[in-house]
Amino acid sequence: MEDIVLLGCSGSIGLQTIDVCYKQNDFHIVGVSLNSKIDVLEEQLKYLPYLKWVAIESKDSYLAFKNKHPEYICLNSTNCSLELLKAAKYTKVVNSIVGFNGLLPSILSLQLNKILCLANKESLVIGGDLIKEELKKGHGKLYPIDSEHVALAKLLKNVNREEISKMIITASGGSLRDYPLDKFNQISVEDVLNHPTWNMGKRITIDSSTMVNKGFEFIEASYLFDFDIENIDVLINDESLVHSALLFKDHSYLFEVGPSDMRVPISYALNETRRVNMDFKEVDFNKKCSINFRKFDYDRYPLFSLVLDTFKLKGTAMAFFNGVDEQAIKYFLEKKINFVELIDFIKSTIKNDMILISDPSIENLIYVDKKAREIVDNKLKGK
Ligand code: MG
Repeated sequence: MEDIVLLGCSGSIGLQTIDVCYKQNDFHIVGVSLNSKIDVLEEQLKYLPYLKWVAIESKDSYLAFKNKHPEYICLNSTNCSLELLKAAKYTKVVNSIVGFNGLLPSILSLQLNKILCLANKESLVIGGDLIKEELKKGHGKLYPIDSEHVALAKLLKNVNREEISKMIITASGGSLRDYPLDKFNQISVEDVLNHPTWNMGKRITIDSSTMVNKGFEFIEASYLFDFDIENIDVLINDESLVHSALLFKDHSYLFEVGPSDMRVPISYALNETRRVNMDFKEVDFNKKCSINFRKFDYDRYPLFSLVLDTFKLKGTAMAFFNGVDEQAIKYFLEKKINFVELIDFIKSTIKNDMILISDPSIENLIYVDKKAREIVDNKLKGK
């Protein structure tokens, strides 16, 4: 039995983690954190029999929950996940916080020598060097919960790395993969949120449509597997059944194929790279089943190359990029800017307003994230 702290319990990965822990019964979730959605937590309580600590960011939600549930130790502060990590007793952390807010909890988890199951890819995208530093010092362990990276970790077991010529990260193509390019100015928020193969949170669904998410995954893979980003490629698989691939020097491939269900990667991370029984349907190749690939269309996803170019600037470049992306998406979701304006806005802001500090400390990253958001607000307020 292992005690788990789940950060970001009310989001998509959070809910699926609760499901995996409840069914596998080897993992006891003893602490959760969330922003404000206590109605979602309320629904989950029956699947959280070992819960003791509840950290809630919003003061109103905290007070409402605490009054109704005196049986839990309730915490409330602006970064209540950090408080929870320090207060609770546990061995593993699942970090499924969305965006920049996941970075500090990831670093603290490692500093506290915990096993970190990481769904928050921004931790590596923005603070990859700081995370690697902690791991190098022997603080904690890290297992990714991103479907592509779990696939790559599986593929990399028992292969000779010297024989690999490329790592291939697959993509679904996102919600706009078939949308006519000449009609992009008509794209609605609803079009973008309608993902063809995965059911995910709003920010990542939008980042999938622009392929910012895929660019982030390249960076994530390069940190996780010490692999040169120049030797990583992307390939679109329509069905999201191929989760990634390796191409070898003799031109043969290894593909990782499985259901498009995030509970598989969650379980693999929680079990520290052990495969265990899952209770849902396998991919049945006896029935009609096809696997189709298509070439990555760089015109359709201009932000993809921008992510990779920005990453090359090092320092605080990705903190700036992420801050701009996260904040601008809020305006898109509120329908204050349209999709084409969102893309153009991100492009021009990265080009003209970049704040670059080399060898950044955590304080530098926090500063640049805050500044990036202020720049977006100043430019878009009144929209
Ligand atoms: Mg992914």
